[in-house]
Amino acid sequence: MFKYKGANRKFKLSQDNYYTQKANEHYASIHSFINYIGTPYITGCSARVIHELEEPSEPNDAMLIGSYVDSYYEGTLDEFKANTPQLFKKDGSLLATFAICNTMIERAENDKLFKTYMTGKKQMILTGNFADIDWKIKIDNAILNKAGDIIAFTDMKTCRDIHSKINGYSFIEAFGYDFQLALYQEILRQNIDKRVPAYINAISKEKVPETAVIFVEDNRLDECLEIITNHSKDFKELLERKIEPQKCGICDYCKATRVNTKVLNYLEL
Ligand SMILES: [Zn+2]
Repeated sequence: MFKYKGANRKFKLSQDNYYTQKANEHYASIHSFINYIGTPYITGCSARVIHELEEPSEPNDAMLIGSYVDSYYEGTLDEFKANTPQLFKKDGSLLATFAICNTMIERAENDKLFKTYMTGKKQMILTGNFADIDWKIKIDNAILNKAGDIIAFTDMKTCRDIHSKINGYSFIEAFGYDFQLALYQEILRQNIDKRVPAYINAISKEKVPETAVIFVEDNRLDECLEIITNHSKDFKELLERKIEPQKCGICDYCKATRVNTKVLNYLEL
């Protein structure tokens, strides 16, 4: 059974163990928190949060596209391709779903501003305590000045398109990326003793991909931190298994695991 225990000096986070159950036992992630409270697009579901921590699911196509582009910027694309055979057809060419990845990278490479914001220290793992929870974060790109000090950071996101509203919200809010930036900025602040601006480098998955560098101002990030604080006690008790996970009843996990026990009347639909 998964149970959060908090940070422990004997356990050191690394690129190799970052996504393991062991790492999750010592450090909470913003991914779990976002799935716990929900967003305008994601239904909050504590049963799904615990299920994902106990049995991490195979990455879906959207996640693979994100990892493909991430690995390009990390300089590990060849390794990623070698370890991800599900990207390819039998003849070794990319499946249609993933062929867009190279077009996305090409577009991003031709965007000077995008490139500038993606230049720096990659995949920085940090930990910190906020609202009585030990968190782990992984910063896609920390932007450095000439002296090597961190002056800003960027998270790279792939999205369906950059401008369309999802349930009335930008893709940043719809997927809780503002919460991610808020926590990352705070944990980074604890580590470098300085609050630095947070950006999203976005690439759309359209036939002709669009790129953008998006700023989320500190006021919004403060609001997100306040919301994290307000839910931290319940969230921590869930991770510690002091409260029973509840099924939301409507998310994909709940639909897939529902046991129907009664016949519905058509008027209930
Ligand atoms: Zn659910």
